[in-house]
Amino acid sequence: MANVTISRYECNRDLLPDVCGLCGAPAKDRVRVTYAWNPPWAGIFLIRRMTVQLPLCPRHLRNRHRRRAVILVILLALLAFGALSFACMIVRPAWLDEDVSGSMFGVCLILFFAWVIGTSVAQWGEIKPVQITDRSLTLSNVSGLFVLAVESTRAHRHDEPDADLRYDDVRDDYDEDRGLPRTD
Ligand SMILES: [Zn+2]
Repeated sequence: MANVTISRYECNRDLLPDVCGLCGAPAKDRVRVTYAWNPPWAGIFLIRRMTVQLPLCPRHLRNRHRRRAVILVILLALLAFGALSFACMIVRPAWLDEDVSGSMFGVCLILFFAWVIGTSVAQWGEIKPVQITDRSLTLSNVSGLFVLAVESTRAHRHDEPDADLRYDDVRDDYDEDRGLPRTD
């Protein structure tokens, strides 16, 4: 897997190629993902976010939906059971002897751990942000084919007769982020 840096310009204008970010297969669908990242020195006090329409192939889109559905079901079960336990405690405290309240607490704990583990498992193999600046988003764990497709799309845009005018701020982004000299 590889890393790729995408400019805010590309994110805002949905300029990514129709190639799955995870496997490089053709992708017609996109999912809106908001990545959050904070510089290690700043802790939680400086969280940067950037939203991208991430291209995914049908298989990876399906997997993503399934994982999210499972996590949502576990979370809803946890909330429902927690609310039910709380309501029982308020309405009929006499119903709850030590065994029953202990069992309810145990079920809540199991559901909570299932939710935490499910959320962690869902992150495995996912595309993750490694840096977000004011103008760019760097993602890890992307397919090498996706990186090639992004580069190819950029090269194509630069070949357009009016690319200098239309995509000038894209070049600005990359020149600054990569420390390259400005051409204008
Ligand atoms: Zn895929």
